[in-house]
Amino acid sequence: MTAIAVLGSTNMDLVAYVARAPGRGETVTGREFRTVPGGKGANQAVAAARAGGEVVMIGAVGTDEYGSALRTNLEHAGVDTDLLHTVAGPSGTAHIVVDDEGANAIVVIPGANGTVTALGPGERAAVAAAGLLLLQLELPLTAVTEAARTAKDRGVRTILTPSPVQPLPSALLDAVDLLIPNEHEAAALTGCEEPHAAAQILLRQVPEVVITLGRKGCLYAARDGEPVLFPAPEVTAVDTTGAGDTFVGTLAVALGEGRSVPEAVAWASSAAALCVQKPGASTSMPYRSEIDAA
Ligand code: ATP
Repeated sequence: MTAIAVLGSTNMDLVAYVARAPGRGETVTGREFRTVPGGKGANQAVAAARAGGEVVMIGAVGTDEYGSALRTNLEHAGVDTDLLHTVAGPSGTAHIVVDDEGANAIVVIPGANGTVTALGPGERAAVAAAGLLLLQLELPLTAVTEAARTAKDRGVRTILTPSPVQPLPSALLDAVDLLIPNEHEAAALTGCEEPHAAAQILLRQVPEVVITLGRKGCLYAARDGEPVLFPAPEVTAVDTTGAGDTFVGTLAVALGEGRSVPEAVAWASSAAALCVQKPGASTSMPYRSEIDAA
């Protein structure tokens, strides 16, 4: 089995459920409040570990009570947290308002995540020793780029989820093997709404692309072949939060086991379809036995 290194964010999601989100200057009474471990990095790490991957999480949490809860959540999933540093100050938090139509508004405060601006010797060694590196854009770009360059130098395959979407320096993109945007991120990166056209533009910069399309599935495109559309399994979705991170984490496990990208995409699509049938993000991520059974 290939070890998967995840360099990314760990946040506590503070979720308020309301009938209608408040306008500027307005106060509304909500229905329910939940704290849920999140952050794209941690979510991908949990998804990969539940799917049977050997996962190392690289990042930082704060010295507040959320920090220890976030670490424990990762450890319960079986993620190695030796390189998840505890730094003075608050952990990352995401302040989320979800209304009755399921629409959300989110403020992310990076907290400890924002201190991860560079890799130390331990982090560089973990990236170099991994079989696969998972990156997103919720940590400072300097650290994300350094990790990608380290991986490239050592021949470690790198997968980037470009979220939150932002202009990407070529120093980073040159080191990425597989880019996995959702359709909105693909459109923002290329100026093209149509996924096939967006994929062709992205292939100028990276060798392989998977554009996730929600319940429509995903589009896989590589420089040396025709694009392939993978329809998603038809299921009744109750909460799609975490579907994208489940997709990426489980895809990494399958690639680490030597499956081809199309085989891995099919397996990850089954996993993501299981995730959307349960409420929550990391809590709804499927275990290996459930994915294989599906
Ligand atoms: P999120 O931010 O909600 O985690 P995302 O926007 O990053 O998700 P999506 O494109 O919405 O990513 O979904 C990722 C994958 O999850 C899809 O490619 C698909 O395989 C699966 N998926 C999402 N929604 C559904 C659904 N309603 N039914 C089946 N599969 C789904």
